[in-house]
Amino acid sequence: MSFCPSCGSPAPAALVDGVEVPCCPVHGAAWRLVRTGSTVEVAVVRSGRVLLCKRATEPYAGCWSLPGGFVNPGEAPEEAARREAREEAGVETELIALLGLYLSSYRKDEWLTVATYLARSSGEPVADGKETSAVAWFSEGELPFLPWNQEERVRAALWRAGC
Ligand SMILES: [Zn+2]
Repeated sequence: MSFCPSCGSPAPAALVDGVEVPCCPVHGAAWRLVRTGSTVEVAVVRSGRVLLCKRATEPYAGCWSLPGGFVNPGEAPEEAARREAREEAGVETELIALLGLYLSSYRKDEWLTVATYLARSSGEPVADGKETSAVAWFSEGELPFLPWNQEERVRAALWRAGC
């Protein structure tokens, strides 16, 4: 069940323009319920390995993932990507390329577009101890389970980087 961002009421599914979307009985289908959220993730590559963070918070606490997160209001995707790498992995990054734009399922009725960047960094990663409990480099053959279908994007990043 989704909830109205204006009043918090349950927003059950209803048809809007032929598409089933969550609708508040009072406020209707608010754009935050209907639109796809904007997120970024960063594949920092070095010597054939990709930098992953062990998540300390839900969802997927305890799993490894690319550093990333929501784009803040008014923030450029590139800025968000560099900020997330700094916050979650403690590294300054140079973005090399936009690997691609992807659709990802977040929770029921909630969708994300993910801008995935390929990046390099000369810094030594450090877990922040809050969002991230550990950081490590993984080769393609060592990849752990990755949420949100990140595995295909990580493999694409390693291939694109010529690793
Ligand atoms: Zn409402």
